[in-house]
Amino acid sequence: MEKENKENVMEKIVSLCKRRGFVFQGSEIYGGLAGTWDYGPYGSELAHNIKELWWKHFISEQENIFGISSATIMSEAVWKASGHLSGFTDPVIECKKCHHRFRADHLAEENKKKNSCPDCGGELGEEKTFNLMFPVGMGSSSTDIAYLRGEIAQGMFVNFKNILDTMHPELPFGLAQIGKAYRNEIAPRDFLFRVREFDLMEFEYFIREEDWEKYFQMWKEEMWRWIERVGIKRDMVHELEVAPEDRAHYSKRTVDFEFDYPFGRKELYGLAYRTDHDLKNHSASSGVDLSYFDEKSKEKFIPHVIEPTFGHGRTLLAVLVSAFREDEMGGETRTYLALPASIAPVKAAIFPLLKNKPELVAKAREVYKLIKKEIPQVVFDDNGNIGKRYRRQDEIGTPFCITIDFDTLGENLEMKDTVTIRDRDSGEQKRMPVSELVDHIKSSIK
Ligand code: ATP
Repeated sequence: MEKENKENVMEKIVSLCKRRGFVFQGSEIYGGLAGTWDYGPYGSELAHNIKELWWKHFISEQENIFGISSATIMSEAVWKASGHLSGFTDPVIECKKCHHRFRADHLAEENKKKNSCPDCGGELGEEKTFNLMFPVGMGSSSTDIAYLRGEIAQGMFVNFKNILDTMHPELPFGLAQIGKAYRNEIAPRDFLFRVREFDLMEFEYFIREEDWEKYFQMWKEEMWRWIERVGIKRDMVHELEVAPEDRAHYSKRTVDFEFDYPFGRKELYGLAYRTDHDLKNHSASSGVDLSYFDEKSKEKFIPHVIEPTFGHGRTLLAVLVSAFREDEMGGETRTYLALPASIAPVKAAIFPLLKNKPELVAKAREVYKLIKKEIPQVVFDDNGNIGKRYRRQDEIGTPFCITIDFDTLGENLEMKDTVTIRDRDSGEQKRMPVSELVDHIKSSIK
């Protein structure tokens, strides 16, 4: 019963995303391209707001983390040195009958035991390893191969010396970025959860080796603060100490943050102690000295690294799952997204009570322009009855709906230049002077 409900929630979220312009299938008019999704207007706004909040949380509000933005196509030499060309693999099994391919480590125990295909019951072939990196041909020569980055971390490592030389940071310090990563996943699935092109938000925190446990703990705590700030339900997130045999090839300790998605408890974020693996290998392979010189102690050494990683699409999905609500209002079932105002695609919607009263429409447009000057993410809507307009905004998570009525125009003199402002979650309305609206909305956007 429980599972049915959860699957139902997933279906409802996917359908809301399509219906309301959050997320569409990639290359949809040609039948879709597996593992790719396109963000529509509200989805792009939500996606952008999450990135902006992350940048604020982990870069702008920190003292010693530098934001960069590196190229997504990177030299083959980078991936050789990082170990990705040899070690960035998943185990794959192909069905001999229907030729569907599965991740061997994701196959159900029952299928493994019987050696039978989950799709057609056919016999499964042998387990092989499959490299997830996407090669790309560069320029006109077919022999010049580069790679779409499989993780964004390498962009930070190859720029380590540039940052030392230009910013002269002192340890500990971080390099952060947000951007695309590409993985040729064997079986993309579960909407935005496992895709072939996705954004990552990530930083490398460079430290002295002896401090790694201290900073591992510090960033673990900060990751929890982020989880709450972005609107992911804390009780749906669980830490998992990753066993040595399951850790990535570069990691000496990994803690995964798993989320209770409707399709099961799965990885949301990762926190890894990458040691000096990457800088050491890049130093050796490129011949460029990537060590750090401590001016005070006069020591020269290769720093170690703590890496908190945040999948952006998985964040957006966890935020939607956390925010999705159904209740009853005015005798009808209503769907709404209880998104934090800081990431809601629209912060407020402004309505004239009636569409066919020019004086109401004119006043509503005046209020709309006044607010829009200060808070750009507001909309004007005079389409349909007021109840329908509320429902439309609830469904996309707009925290406030503001209605201009005859009292605003001065029909009741005491209420001239006041409006009703409705709270999304409770549906409660109160009257407020137009002059207080901007501050009221701004105070909710933290
Ligand atoms: P998984 O075990 O789920 O394949 P991973 O352990 O390979 O993930 P990492 O290499 O730690 O993942 O990637 C860092 C983060 O990138 C993950 O925590 C996750 O949020 C995100 N991520 C990884 N693979 C995908 C994917 N195919 N689609 C969307 N997000 C992903």
